[in-house]
Amino acid sequence: MPDSPAAAIASTYFPGARCENERWVRSEMLGLLDHWFDWRKSLFPDDFAATSEAAAAPEARADLSARLQELAQALTAETPTHTPRYIGHMKAEISLPALFGWLAAMLHNPNNTSQEASRVGSVIETEAVAMLASMLGYDPAEAQGHFTSGGTVANFEAVWRARYRMDHWLSLGLYVAETTGEPLDVFAAAHMGWDRFRELWDQHGLTDATLRRYSAAVGNPAAVWARIGRAAGRDYLGPVLLAPGTKHYSWLKAANVFGLGEGSLWSIALDAEGRLDIEDLDRLIREARAQGRPVLTAVSVAGTTETSEIDPIDAVHDRLEAWERDEGVHIWRHVDAAYGGFLCAVLGGPDEAALSPASAAALRAIGRADSVTIDPHKLGYVPYACGAFLTRDRARYAVSAFDAPYLDRPELGDGKWASTLEGSRTAAGAAATWLTGRTLGFGPEGLGTLLAETVRTARAFRGAVAAAVPEVRFLEPVDANIVCFSLAREGEALSSANARTAALFDAIHASAELSASRTTLGAGYARLIDRHLASYDGVKDADGLVLVRCVFMNPYWADPANRGLLFPQIAGFIRRHVEAAAPALRGAA
Ligand SMILES: *Cc1c(COP(=O)(O)O)cnc(C)c1O
Repeated sequence: MPDSPAAAIASTYFPGARCENERWVRSEMLGLLDHWFDWRKSLFPDDFAATSEAAAAPEARADLSARLQELAQALTAETPTHTPRYIGHMKAEISLPALFGWLAAMLHNPNNTSQEASRVGSVIETEAVAMLASMLGYDPAEAQGHFTSGGTVANFEAVWRARYRMDHWLSLGLYVAETTGEPLDVFAAAHMGWDRFRELWDQHGLTDATLRRYSAAVGNPAAVWARIGRAAGRDYLGPVLLAPGTKHYSWLKAANVFGLGEGSLWSIALDAEGRLDIEDLDRLIREARAQGRPVLTAVSVAGTTETSEIDPIDAVHDRLEAWERDEGVHIWRHVDAAYGGFLCAVLGGPDEAALSPASAAALRAIGRADSVTIDPHKLGYVPYACGAFLTRDRARYAVSAFDAPYLDRPELGDGKWASTLEGSRTAAGAAATWLTGRTLGFGPEGLGTLLAETVRTARAFRGAVAAAVPEVRFLEPVDANIVCFSLAREGEALSSANARTAALFDAIHASAELSASRTTLGAGYARLIDRHLASYDGVKDADGLVLVRCVFMNPYWADPANRGLLFPQIAGFIRRHVEAAAPALRGAA
């Protein structure tokens, strides 16, 4: 009998570490097939000449069956990620609601590109987006969004919208400069805000057709940028993207794909705890203003990919709202909550104390962002490929080639196709998310209970391993459920600690018992690395810090019996490795 609410959730809503739910899962899946076949048979019963099952070519069928077995067998060489022994990456067991919801939708294969191609799937998507919106702190009646193939595309969706919004404002600025002869303040124009935009629009009696001739997004960007340069009286170098040094690789891709160049992605410095440094954000905005380069979007991260840290999102909003209020500078605020967004499910419930007060305040502030990325295929326990992109309201969601100021566009009909980067889109991820929301739920009594337990598990792991192997140095603080550590003796040089940590990772990698991952924090983390070294008087003779990274998202860790069994095994593995690798040094000490 599970003895905690989190363990009860793990044993009810997942297949079971030892397949305890096998019989029930089989019957639900067969039930789904029954339902699907019954539905098909009920339609057009008089159409088509029926062929008997025996008429199928037996050889072809035998061949298909054999190849299917071959495929199934080949797939067993995948790393088993359903077991809590797997703490390698942001991947774990998928939940039963997600699996059932995914399969149910797949049998009908709707295409969420439009309501016509997805009569039910698109409604499910709208409802699932509303569930995510309320969890994230948006008003579900106002928020808009859609499912994507993942966080990468969701982040691109944000840049796409931020770019169009900025393009409207800057085009109008260029129009005013060219028609009045007044010099163009690029930075001020590009962040003018909709109120100022509408004021100028009315004042100049503008029309869409006119403004299109001033748009880099609609016209020839090189030509428009050159005109912006002439109007401003200096070369226009284009906008910059601001994201913390912890950013996911997708932001570099975005800078590339949107034609900004990687040099336009400016890294916000990290503080000594590895989180976005507000003063540096402010410094970069001032730097962008000094260079006459607009800020396309300022990104903060809820749950970084390497260490699951949560940026001070509340303070970011405070600062950027001050820029709006005091300087009239409106900067698009995006939160990359691909990993950590589901931790919002913990808020407001009995388990909120599993998070630090700073993390809780940061997560609560997500609802103030213009847009958010969240990945149900990470902490939502939904199968790939399932990300989601949400905006606070309809105006922020609209993508407009040029229909200032974001008027309704009836020509788009009921479809989403014009406002999604992707064309054809599955409904399966939305259905998986929907069924999870309708059963387990995205609140503190449901998913939140389980996720709070993953955070506690990460903490318990640190305690257990630190007690057993003093040379293990955990990277602190840990905001969520990803734990990183290095191996180092008191006073050891970083280069030597790095080599030993890398060797431990190789040993873990070579073993069948355990999967972890490896990461190297680079120069951008200098202050955090210094802090880490200071904890054991380490000597800094290298820039990067090599770490073993452990992701504690597996639901079965919620069962204390699994921790009792596996923590000592993992600690023992590390201890044996440390002892085997350095017998002489140990003897000498
Ligand atoms: C995983 C992740 C992404 C990218 O998401 P994909 O689903 O892999 O495309 C973006 N940002 C963060 C913070 C992530 O953790």
